[in-house]
Amino acid sequence: MLRLSTFFRRVQIALMVAGLVCLFAQPPAARAWGNEGHRMINRLAATTLPADVPAFLHSEAAVNEIEYLGPEPDRWRSRAEPELSAAQAPEHFIDLEPADALGPLPRNRLDFEAKVFAAGQRPEKIGLQPWETTEVWERLKAALREYRNLQAAKQDTRAVEAAALFYAGWLGHYVGDGSQPLHTTDKYNGWVGPNPNGYTTEHQIHWQFEGPFVAANEHESDVRAKMTPPQTNDSDMFSSYVAYLRHTATYVEKVYQLEKAGGFVAAGSSESREFTSERLAAGASMLRDMIYTAWLESAKPAPDPYAGK
Ligand SMILES: [Zn+2]
Repeated sequence: MLRLSTFFRRVQIALMVAGLVCLFAQPPAARAWGNEGHRMINRLAATTLPADVPAFLHSEAAVNEIEYLGPEPDRWRSRAEPELSAAQAPEHFIDLEPADALGPLPRNRLDFEAKVFAAGQRPEKIGLQPWETTEVWERLKAALREYRNLQAAKQDTRAVEAAALFYAGWLGHYVGDGSQPLHTTDKYNGWVGPNPNGYTTEHQIHWQFEGPFVAANEHESDVRAKMTPPQTNDSDMFSSYVAYLRHTATYVEKVYQLEKAGGFVAAGSSESREFTSERLAAGASMLRDMIYTAWLESAKPAPDPYAGK
């Protein structure tokens, strides 16, 4: 007969092994582009910024920092930080079908959440992508405005430079997610609804496309070649960003067509590789343009929030 302590030790080991098996058996859900894709998008955006942004945003150290931060919000999914994990998970996606069914998207996160609750639904099921992205972009713009102020006052700017780099890198994660069609739809991991074309309903397409396929087949030089020339966004960033998400959403069915043709198995096809490069490039181009627009917009004077108080 086993001594009780030995018995419990064996049970403990068995549970640990079972836990590890579960960890490796489950694909990391809804990470968008995995580690490799997110790093690539952030790196490409930082290295292609127009020359008139300050040097601290595209020095070698800055590029490395921004690249490192590409996957940052995916590092907040651990059960070791359960409140953070739960609160931030919906910020990676938006299911446009149920969101649009509630009417025009309000510009303010809390107004959208109130609308969702009033409809008897939950915001974490529909997603908060455009609100989170706009808010982080505004943080970046505020930091760049502070940088301009300190520089004009001939003060040390190193602390605000670190803050701005963090915001730029953090922003990159969501903008990258926003170029992945499966982050804009309720068909995010298997077709739902009428399915006359027989697209997959298995819950594998999401990670298959954005994780192993990207890691094995996508190269920075191919993605860079597909980036658009730099441009500024409309200063109404919420509307600009929602338009970007809606453009991404036009490719949802394409992802399913490619999957059906075996496009995301091993090396896929030239069409699936081209398509994926183009999507990564769209994310990198949008991020670069959003950072550039934040820099230009940060020159505008901001009203004093405490005036008259
Ligand atoms: Zn994400």
